[in-house]
Amino acid sequence: MKALVWDGHEAKVCEHPEPVATASDEAIVEVSLAGVCATDLEITRGYMDYRGVLGHEFVGRVEWGPEEWVGSRVVGEINAACGACEVCAEGNPRHCPNRSVLGIQDRDGVFAERVVLPIANLHRVPDEVLDEAAVFAEPLAAAFEILEQVDVGACDHCLVFGDGRLGLLIAQVLATTGASVHAVGRHREKLALLEARGVRTVTADDFEAAPFQADIVVEATGSADGFARAIAATRPRGTLVLKSTVADAPSVDLAPLVIHEITVVGSRCGPFGPALEALANSSVDVAPLIAERFPLSRGVEALDRARQKGVLKVLIDPKA
Ligand SMILES: [Zn+2]
Ligand SMILES: [Zn+2]
Repeated sequence: MKALVWDGHEAKVCEHPEPVATASDEAIVEVSLAGVCATDLEITRGYMDYRGVLGHEFVGRVEWGPEEWVGSRVVGEINAACGACEVCAEGNPRHCPNRSVLGIQDRDGVFAERVVLPIANLHRVPDEVLDEAAVFAEPLAAAFEILEQVDVGACDHCLVFGDGRLGLLIAQVLATTGASVHAVGRHREKLALLEARGVRTVTADDFEAAPFQADIVVEATGSADGFARAIAATRPRGTLVLKSTVADAPSVDLAPLVIHEITVVGSRCGPFGPALEALANSSVDVAPLIAERFPLSRGVEALDRARQKGVLKVLIDPKA
């Protein structure tokens, strides 16, 4: 089959072996649509030292597996746990030390015609959610993870740094709680998408000229230097949520975290249920986030496009 493969030096579209189900609890999924994420781009800069088929955001159809799943339209969680260790037994499979991670660690990803995943990772997509929306389930679940970790209520004031792919989803998800949400970003047209959803917006320049603090601050700029600014914007005893994984290690003064007794929360993958529900009832709008769609044969171009500053979600279509 055709796949977009990272070999440690170069990303290229090539012929790649078909995925093989090694256990009866796995399914082969035909990929209908996949999304390029900052993590894919970080991998091409050396993050995770991964080699293999790139990509982890997808929607597809089960082609082979248990009968009750064949033909189902699905999205999939990216962490494949061992199911046998202590961490798994405690109910934290997303943190299993023996896990493989779709397109990130020891498991071929979704920029391919087909992919294999454990059935336990799959979620059926409601009929009313189009492929173009369902492909956002994974990053949207990552945004919903914040609500699993932090108690966000109507009285809270939230501040989201970053108007990129993830920041725009996070601001919308926080707004669903009734909390007052401000988003800070560099692109007026992207911030305008949020204003339509009840999020108040500030340009990064305006924020720098007149900074303010919030109870809950989310760092989602994807840049190493965003950390210090996010710390400064968190009120004493507030919560700082870190959503960016960057290959460059930031050098940051941690003293303010101690002095102001700030709670720091690292936040990664999240629950698919609320994400699919939000897509089905349109409480989150992802359609304006789609920047461009490429056939898989032009996958390298798709990565280049996604790497350009300010470009939102680039989709890869293996069927085109
Ligand atoms: Zn991602
Ligand atoms: Zn495990």
